[in-house]
Amino acid sequence: MGNNKKDLQVLIAGGGIGGLTTALYLHKAGIPVKVFESVTELKPLGVGINIQPHAVKRLFSLDLQDALDATGIRTARLSFYSKRGSLIWTEPRGLDAGYDVPQYSIHRGELQMLLYRAVIERIGTENVLTGHHLSGFEQDDNGVTVHFEDRKTGETIGSYQGDILIGADGIMSKTRQIFYPDEGVPVYSGLILWRGIVETDAYLDGRTMVMVGNATRKAVIYPVSQQSMNQGKSLVNWIMELPIHMDLPPKKEDWNRPGNKADFANQFQQWKFDWLDIPNLIDITDSIYEFPMIDRDPIPQWSFGRVTLLGDAAHAMRPNGSNGASQAIWDAETITDMLLEKDETVQALKAYEDLRLEPVSNLVLENRKTGPEKVMQEADDNCTGDCTHQCTCLARDYLETVASRYKKLAGFDTDSVNQQSS
Ligand SMILES: Cc1cc2nc3c(=O)[nH]c(=O)nc-3n(C[C@H](O)[C@H](O)[C@H](O)COP(=O)(O)OP(=O)(O)OC[C@H]3O[C@@H](n4cnc5c(N)ncnc54)[C@H](O)[C@@H]3O)c2cc1C
Repeated sequence: MGNNKKDLQVLIAGGGIGGLTTALYLHKAGIPVKVFESVTELKPLGVGINIQPHAVKRLFSLDLQDALDATGIRTARLSFYSKRGSLIWTEPRGLDAGYDVPQYSIHRGELQMLLYRAVIERIGTENVLTGHHLSGFEQDDNGVTVHFEDRKTGETIGSYQGDILIGADGIMSKTRQIFYPDEGVPVYSGLILWRGIVETDAYLDGRTMVMVGNATRKAVIYPVSQQSMNQGKSLVNWIMELPIHMDLPPKKEDWNRPGNKADFANQFQQWKFDWLDIPNLIDITDSIYEFPMIDRDPIPQWSFGRVTLLGDAAHAMRPNGSNGASQAIWDAETITDMLLEKDETVQALKAYEDLRLEPVSNLVLENRKTGPEKVMQEADDNCTGDCTHQCTCLARDYLETVASRYKKLAGFDTDSVNQQSS
């Protein structure tokens, strides 16, 4: 690779949050890029997600602030409650916590669509090829040739040449599978998540994310829509989590399937608090999805010559700590920086791996220990049943230490984010 990055052609497999953000970064750096997405039409699917300040700062640097504000909620607080509804821990988030950018709670599909619109606008529809499912590739000293098929029919669609392939093709990454053919299905945590989204009255201040319960019975709830808030309502995203012993079905299609209230609602029947009626939330929700909580074991290598992995393809993690997409956005910036900084393509991809693999792998493992949410189980273990509104089982110093340790590990402590240039 010469020094002129405009001569490079980067191919990205996957138009999710990681792939699309990478396309925006590369375009901003003047590096030609093409995105190949497996589905024929991107739709705003999914439910809620939180984008932490370290990722928000990066999205703002891509001029996405207005688009984010038009749809997401600027999260004000994160609060953990016991199964009796008493407060274990509460902390300000985003601007309220002293960051110079907000945290957003946002509909995942809306986030993907706003990134998609920005990509189309900036790199042109001709460089975003939907209905292209990566099926294989070859590489040599001159470049990489990537093959695509129609995912539904298996029919070959065509091959494209580039200097680099970034596999941003999610937790079931074909790119990763080619390098790690024996890996098999993701690792099932033993927990099932039932997820729903419903418009209702706001709870608390209308901008607070709450987690209720313990390690074996948990609710995660947060509002996700500024439009709904503007109309005096609240679009509330909820997740109910329970342990279910099973083997993970081999097919991805069998994971995110319509859920049945009868399978879980009775476990949350008592969680009717004066600040939020959780059984009612479940009751008024029409569509519910059932999803196993899964991740992948960390792998020792992401970059193989001209091909590398990014986002969930590289480091799918459990959602504890709300960080998977935020880390993918961080990957996008790092890979672009390394392509600009290093003279050689292969060297740049290795440098990206050197910077990102170890810290993100540590986070994957930390999230298996339930991340910052572990204090909920600890409070439960120590609970004497005397706490009413405020749980006093765990020392405040300890709670602060756990919260700040996780933020440091995930790279979003206030100092690191505020020092990060935008
Ligand atoms: C319950 C739950 C809650 C979560 N909450 C949060 C949160 O609050 N905050 C957070 O930061 N993260 C959260 N995450 C994680 C987050 O959703 C993911 O980390 C993030 O979406 C990963 O983005 P990605 O682009 O790497 O992968 P994906 O979003 O999975 O995108 C991959 C894309 O690649 C396409 N694709 C697949 N195969 C191919 C192929 N062969 N060729 C071409 N295209 C292909 C897919 O269609 C898809 O569009 C949560 C996850 C779950 C399950």
